[in-house]
Amino acid sequence: MKIQVGAWARKGTRRFTGEVPASVLDLDREAYVQPNGPVAYDVRANLAEGELLVRGRLDAEFTLACARCGRDFAFRVQVRDFVRSVPAPNENEVIDLTGDVREDILLSLPFNALCSPDCKGLCARCGADLNRRACRCATAEAKTRSSAFDQVRIR
Ligand SMILES: [Zn+2]
Ligand SMILES: [Zn+2]
Repeated sequence: MKIQVGAWARKGTRRFTGEVPASVLDLDREAYVQPNGPVAYDVRANLAEGELLVRGRLDAEFTLACARCGRDFAFRVQVRDFVRSVPAPNENEVIDLTGDVREDILLSLPFNALCSPDCKGLCARCGADLNRRACRCATAEAKTRSSAFDQVRIR
């Protein structure tokens, strides 16, 4: 995200909108999070009292892998309060805030993201996805216990 300072800075505020390519997020090697597209930004820049203030919104969509069941799901990151200030630049200077965009987006990505709050996860014994089907491990264990109990009672 590059803010081109110009004549506007003497008069007031200017809106900057655009996209930062997903490649700047540097997530190529991450197995659990992949960007679905670029990061959209919509910010306003304002030069006042010796500093350039840039504030606005960032928006990006990702594919995350669920921490419980491993399933991929779409997750949207919206930063509503992106704010940076830099010492007053010279006219026609270009302020590059790409690294700041990356930082705020990465901080907004959840750790241990779940595909849904009540995701049942995988069976620790057989690995079945318990969201799709119930495996027999739980019932098999219950049966073993009750048959042992029956034997005790028979004696
Ligand atoms: Zn899940
Ligand atoms: Zn199981």
